[in-house]
Amino acid sequence: GPEPIAAFARMGEENAFAVLARATQLAAQGRDILNLGIGQPDFQTPPHVVEAAVKALRDGHHGYTPANGLLPTREAVCRRVHTMTGVAISPETVMITPGGKPAMYAAISMLGEPGAEILYPDPGFPIYRSMIDFTGARAVPVPLREDNAFAFSAEETLSLITADTRLLIINSPSNPTGAVTPRIEIEKLLAGLENHPHVVVLSDEIYDVMTYDGTEHTSLLAFPEIRDRLIVLNGWSKTWAMTGWRLGWSIWPPHLYEAMRKLAVNSWSCVNAPAQWAGIAAIDGPQDHVHDMLAAFDRRRQLVTDLANRIDNVTCVRPNGAFYAFPNIKATGWFAKDLSRAVLEKAGVALIGGPDFGDFGEGYLRISCASSDVAIRDAFERIDEFLATEQ
Ligand code: PLP
Repeated sequence: GPEPIAAFARMGEENAFAVLARATQLAAQGRDILNLGIGQPDFQTPPHVVEAAVKALRDGHHGYTPANGLLPTREAVCRRVHTMTGVAISPETVMITPGGKPAMYAAISMLGEPGAEILYPDPGFPIYRSMIDFTGARAVPVPLREDNAFAFSAEETLSLITADTRLLIINSPSNPTGAVTPRIEIEKLLAGLENHPHVVVLSDEIYDVMTYDGTEHTSLLAFPEIRDRLIVLNGWSKTWAMTGWRLGWSIWPPHLYEAMRKLAVNSWSCVNAPAQWAGIAAIDGPQDHVHDMLAAFDRRRQLVTDLANRIDNVTCVRPNGAFYAFPNIKATGWFAKDLSRAVLEKAGVALIGGPDFGDFGEGYLRISCASSDVAIRDAFERIDEFLATEQ
């Protein structure tokens, strides 16, 4: 039959879904699989949030909502932003979307076209690159280097900007490295961006609450000088363990907000109403589930780092954010793709190769801490044994 337009051949994927599918398949065959590949919290949505959705359904919230989201949900986002950053924003700037991802899709597709350049983090969330390629814009990687603890370097980022740059994507805390870019570097970046007023910034802050060791997340919302060309992506997926609910928010400058709202009208219409009511309960309700989850991630990221560093020829920077670690395996002599495939097939440990997050991810693995401490210990024992016997 007829093929889709050529742009679809340029569109990529998230290999994490393929690894998960293969791990599930092996488990169904009876293999004992330990999964350190997961990109979602291994926690349940807090019960009071579930109850709020059930109540919304019982109360008859069954219809369409405005395309940009229910006003009470957008107002709850304003309260959340104020709690997290101290900044007052208007609900007129807030878009509610099915997960945080559509904000990425929207920002890249409204600014990307042939001839344009878009800067994206490498290693970084794979959909940035995929969507840039889809639009025909040139995808320009901003390398996040281990010798800079995988943080953004303002100097290197600014050096990549040209007259054709339309969008700069930044992400802190980072998937896949767990790095948190320090405030001083963000300040330097924003100072430099004053010389490039044609560049819009998309700040993916979906892991904002997940920082450890007293590390502070710096929201770009805290800098009024960039607000008229700043998009901030965030949402409920990670913080309240709600990935399957598909509920996210983003904050837009007025001239782009209208394009975003139109895109919603032309595609998903709105997020399902009960999820939007549940989102309010998540923001306004008790946060003890969030704190328990963060305590577990904190403990496990230390465990993962310690166990990784104990393996011959493997070193691992201790991540300060999100729930991932990004060990360096260069000295093992393995390509990351081969190693990740081999440890899944032969040792029964699912994890993601660094190259699935960009070219600068070669020589690294992404380990998710969204697995029990016992599973993490067993998995590292298997990886250690595999490396000791296979080389
Ligand atoms: N941004 C980053 C950096 C992510 O890691 C993810 C999910 O893995 C998302 C955005 C998308 O989140 P959502 O499930 O809310 O669409």
